[in-house]
Amino acid sequence: MLIAPKTARFIARIRAMMSVAEAAGRLDSRPGAPTPFRIVPRTTAGTIARLWSRLVAAGVPPSAQAALADDATIAAAESFSANIESMIGTVKVPVGIVGPLRVNGLNAHGDFLIPMATTEAALVASYARGATAANRAGGIAATTLSDGVLRTPAFRFASIADAGRFVDWVAGNPELLTAAANETTRHGALVSIDPVIDGEVVFLLCTYFTGDAAGQNMVTFATDALCRAALAQCPIAPLSWFLEGNYSGDKKASFLGVMQGRGRKVTAQVDLPTAVVEDVLGVGIARILEYGRIANLGSLLSGQIGAQAHYANALAALYLATGQDAACVAESAVGYTRMEPSDIGLKVTVTLPNLLVGTVGGGTGLPSQRAALDVMGLAGTGHAPALAEVAAALCLCGELSLTAAVAGGQFGSAHKRLARGRH
Ligand code: NAP
Repeated sequence: MLIAPKTARFIARIRAMMSVAEAAGRLDSRPGAPTPFRIVPRTTAGTIARLWSRLVAAGVPPSAQAALADDATIAAAESFSANIESMIGTVKVPVGIVGPLRVNGLNAHGDFLIPMATTEAALVASYARGATAANRAGGIAATTLSDGVLRTPAFRFASIADAGRFVDWVAGNPELLTAAANETTRHGALVSIDPVIDGEVVFLLCTYFTGDAAGQNMVTFATDALCRAALAQCPIAPLSWFLEGNYSGDKKASFLGVMQGRGRKVTAQVDLPTAVVEDVLGVGIARILEYGRIANLGSLLSGQIGAQAHYANALAALYLATGQDAACVAESAVGYTRMEPSDIGLKVTVTLPNLLVGTVGGGTGLPSQRAALDVMGLAGTGHAPALAEVAAALCLCGELSLTAAVAGGQFGSAHKRLARGRH
């Protein structure tokens, strides 16, 4: 049997370091592992100091304490309590600014300063370039198309027939289930329940409106109440049930998310005059479109969910800056970018079906995250749909700039110029 070169190289590397017996021995379980620190549920200056005395005693250099548990962090210690356990400090992610970006949105209508938290050189510059092109075209049109966050509990019954009886009962008791769910929240509301049967297993696809919150906790609490009401009242008892059947796409890219949308679904578009493309993006439209076709083929051949260049860059930086759940980039950074010739030049459209963003709740109230939302003018109640539209517009800026950079042969040189100076 011929061993694949990648595997052969790996084996050679390990063998150069140790014998096979030593390698196997390194994987053996070892008794006497330390007991992990007890979880510290709330945060105060005192809990942080006590954790650091243990860390320093364990050999962590005091300079790490100075960097992570700085004065500003200690002064605000208690404000982090609801967001983290066993807190020892904060990391300082640099924040750059893009904009003002003109967004002509149903909800976001104005010129937005957009903070991006990142350590990737060239990223902010790239989005700023896309924003310049978009503004020269009069701004980016953006509209929220739908919203609704999913929780998908699962129930296992003795038979297919019992699964069917349960679904029949659910279909006949919408008021009871809605009341149970909606009792848990003032701003959220159950929108629909879509049962899916697979043999003796039933998933309930529960969709919620979540107000200005991203809503992951909200839908969890509401669905827990809904399930318990069903279990208390329904004559068909499941053998077992689970609050989340891993069907919802929570923190995973999924086809369900693309088709149904999880969070806020937004589409955004700009029509760039030819002169703007050439002057600001530095490349001709024909070349951009040629690269767009190749990039779409690459998406298809590699089996991507969606087809886009790098929504994750915009969303990770925006989510970190504004206190969103960064792990939701896994599902939010999915969608489709379209580039086509227009009467005036180049029309670019992005559609993101799964933007999990909020302007209240989660990490949005923490000191610096709240400040970043203030920079945008989008902190607090009434602003979540606008934030989603700005997020989509920002993604569009990134699609413009990166696509033009690759098409125009500037991709490597821009990174080299902006990132390599530090070494
Ligand atoms: P949350 O902070 O847990 O809940 C939002 C809070 O804001 C609720 O107490 C809500 O009150 C209140 N609120 C006030 N004004 C509101 C308004 N205008 N619109 C909506 N709510 C308003 O935030 P969340 O968005 O539900 O959950 C996000 C957090 O969940 C993130 O930190 C994320 O990391 C975490 N998360 C949880 C799970 C999970 O399964 N539990 C999974 C992934 C992530 P009412 O509820 O009374 O309306």
